[in-house]
Amino acid sequence: MMDIRDLYQEVILDHSRRPRNFGRLADANCEAEGDNPLCGDRVHIYLRIEGDRVTEARFEGRGCAISMASASLMTDMLRGLALDEVRALFQHFHAVVTHGESAEACDWIDLDKLNVLSGVREYPVRIKCATLAWHTMKAALEGKRTPVRTE
Ligand code: ZN
Repeated sequence: MMDIRDLYQEVILDHSRRPRNFGRLADANCEAEGDNPLCGDRVHIYLRIEGDRVTEARFEGRGCAISMASASLMTDMLRGLALDEVRALFQHFHAVVTHGESAEACDWIDLDKLNVLSGVREYPVRIKCATLAWHTMKAALEGKRTPVRTE
């Protein structure tokens, strides 16, 4: 049987090689830039918000496998969520990567994708790679103009 960590590794490699939702979103009404100088990762997150719901999420950027996979997984998860669900998801994500909590199953989203990123907590330097897209997304929702920096 495949080790669960190998499986997570596979998912990360797959998302970094073939990122989902990659490219500019022309009708985005919410966007922000993020920069992780420690590793050289850069992301630009684009969101389309209608009412209180994310109807589209895309990203552009370049960086290491973890930063790209995290942005890819995140944009996949955001689409269709209400804004309060997005905030709850951010909290879950933060707990998973910083405290190593395993995300509990909940009814509105498949948290397996978050658990995929949980391995990074063993590599503190990598946490910034994994969280970059998420902090940038949060800044986009808050309408921040200045680029997010992890440093
Ligand atoms: Zn990185």
